[in-house]
Amino acid sequence: MTLQVTNTLTGEREPFEPQDPESVLLYYCGLTVSDFAHLGHARSWVHVDVMARWLEHSGYDVRHVENFTDVNEKIVARVGEDDLGESEDEVARHFISEVITDMRSLNLKRAEVYPRVSEHVPEIIDLVETLVEKGYAYESNGSVYFDVTEFDEYGKLSNQKIEEMEAQGEADELEEKRHPADFALWKAGEAHPDDAEPGGQTWDSPWGEGRPGWHIECSAMSMTHLDDTIDVHLGGQDLVFPHHENEIAQSEAATGKQFAKYWMHVRLLETGGEKMSSSLQNYFTVRNAVSEFGGDAVRMFLLSTAYNNRQTYSEETLNEAVERWERLERGYDRAVEATDSADARTKVEDETLRSAVAETRDEFAAAMDDDFNTREAITALLELVGAVNKHLDSRDEYDYRALRDSVETFEELGEEVLGFALAGDGEGEVELLDELVELVLDVRERERDAGNYERADDLRDDLEALGIEVQDTDSGAEFRLE
Ligand SMILES: [Zn+2]
Repeated sequence: MTLQVTNTLTGEREPFEPQDPESVLLYYCGLTVSDFAHLGHARSWVHVDVMARWLEHSGYDVRHVENFTDVNEKIVARVGEDDLGESEDEVARHFISEVITDMRSLNLKRAEVYPRVSEHVPEIIDLVETLVEKGYAYESNGSVYFDVTEFDEYGKLSNQKIEEMEAQGEADELEEKRHPADFALWKAGEAHPDDAEPGGQTWDSPWGEGRPGWHIECSAMSMTHLDDTIDVHLGGQDLVFPHHENEIAQSEAATGKQFAKYWMHVRLLETGGEKMSSSLQNYFTVRNAVSEFGGDAVRMFLLSTAYNNRQTYSEETLNEAVERWERLERGYDRAVEATDSADARTKVEDETLRSAVAETRDEFAAAMDDDFNTREAITALLELVGAVNKHLDSRDEYDYRALRDSVETFEELGEEVLGFALAGDGEGEVELLDELVELVLDVRERERDAGNYERADDLRDDLEALGIEVQDTDSGAEFRLE
């Protein structure tokens, strides 16, 4: 069976066929960094992480890009608060570092690139200029708006007709716009460095000083770091309209190509019937949840419901997840200990355990290929825990081969795909090492962009002296530990 996914764009379940049969271009709309992340964000993170891991496990080379929105009024509103920072940029950097700490506590695999809006303003301006030139956007009072009536397919993602749409954006934009549903690509605005009220960052543009609108950033960053057409665009359910509808309109109007083949949306986490969001004040931060229950148990909680099914947070369901995680961890530990103590030349054969391993592998793959059904995948792994326990409890001599296969299955499916820290120690350090090398490569890239080729070459030589081989490819520098 091949992977089937539910595509919001068509409303259908479809076989997953990326443009290139060997690789997947994936963009996930990341966080606006104005606060700590809550469990609702973690739900999306963990599911997107496992999707990327399953695609990699299935043989695809996955290029995962996830943005940080660091230009936003919500960030500006926090300037000067406590010790958060004295500018929009400082506040954003503060929360990006907190968010990365949270991501690590959930054992998320790093995306390949975490682009920030503030670093892509030239690309955004280029895109807006193209839209103006092609007649899809117009300047009004120093701002630029997308004209939704010019894009025939506007509304195709959220299944809406323009005539029935409500106004978008701020009320005071209405008199600048041709149609109430038009949305801002660029907002006129001045910095107010001397005012008591801090203003957000502004940039020079062909339309004067201003800031990018919200939606245009993802189109620009997706095209910059991936391609005009990507395979999978992911985000929370709340982004279907207007954010993703607008991304499609502005991207496809600019390039004339399909923007993303598959649109997938993670349902929001609910608490007592309400969806979880910072503004409702009912949120539970990732930090609190991880310190109370542990990263693996939180992961277990979030994966115990498929990404597109309804999930409600409660103390009780989290406690159940803690038990499920402990059961998996204990089963794995017991299997490892028994393998270490068993004789590899043993003649014992336990057909029940051997077929349980095979069944778990089949059921796990079938579950993941069934639109990433992590709930069923976990059930399959826990069935293997049951079979291992039964084997160990009922015999004096162990089936070494079956136990070794069980351990491998737990590590491959439980750790590599579902991202649980089963074997535990060391993995965090390897991740940190990867991040440090990436950091040095970024510095080298910047030196090269600035024309300092000698310094860039020195950095490469220094890395090679440490046994880190650097190779330049079309999509940037890659490295390998020798
Ligand atoms: Zn986005």
